[in-house]
Amino acid sequence: MRKLAAGNWKMNGTRAALSELEALAQAHPTPSVDILICPPATLVQPAAALLADAAVAIGGQDCHMARAGAHTGDIAAAQLADAGATAVIVGHSERREDHGETSDVVREKANAAHDAGLIAVICVGETLAERDAGHTLDVIGAQLAASLPETCTAANTVIAYEPVWAIGTGKMPTLDQIAEVHGFLRDTLAARFGDSEAAGMRLLYGGSVKATNAAEIFAVANVDGALVGGASLREDDFSQIISALQDAL
Ligand code: PEP
Repeated sequence: MRKLAAGNWKMNGTRAALSELEALAQAHPTPSVDILICPPATLVQPAAALLADAAVAIGGQDCHMARAGAHTGDIAAAQLADAGATAVIVGHSERREDHGETSDVVREKANAAHDAGLIAVICVGETLAERDAGHTLDVIGAQLAASLPETCTAANTVIAYEPVWAIGTGKMPTLDQIAEVHGFLRDTLAARFGDSEAAGMRLLYGGSVKATNAAEIFAVANVDGALVGGASLREDDFSQIISALQDAL
């Protein structure tokens, strides 16, 4: 499978930030990994237009579960696709926390993404209290079971393991802890979707990935790339992470 370096800009960036994308595309004209940037919704269309001939794909950060209708302020998956997105993040812990999104909601969003022809980047991850209590795999198992729709395939689904306590904090699980969770993800996906679909699903690690720690993370078994927040905002930072992923092939 092609490894994936994905960036989540969150609520950062105006049109001035499009120059970072232009530089990113110029720095990676023929990458040996997939590159995805999920900018704020206002930038999806201009970014996709700017990068139409480039090897950097554009995604949304969230979509509504409904196909259309009276949902003020929300965006349908088909609208993201129409704007040029090829993927959408669903179930990010900031959405789960800030907007009370349950795994049932995340599953419906992922299903809407699939219906619109988008890759769903489905996020799971434990809190520090859950890890300290020894419940990490139970929590992630429950999130996976409820957050993934039956429509998941290797082609349309990416799973991002993002420990909530590692996002934007500079804290990281140990490499053994990442290996344990990613092995568990692969096995759980295989039990539900079959060995060959599970083997082709990209499993991303996310949480304080930087140029300085990317290489060791990408050397961990079953880590097929990263979902990167802060270090995806600037071309030079993200390019080093992309290079580390390419070097790990
Ligand atoms: C994220 O928001 O998905 C993330 C992993 O953020 P950061 O890389 O900044 O920790």
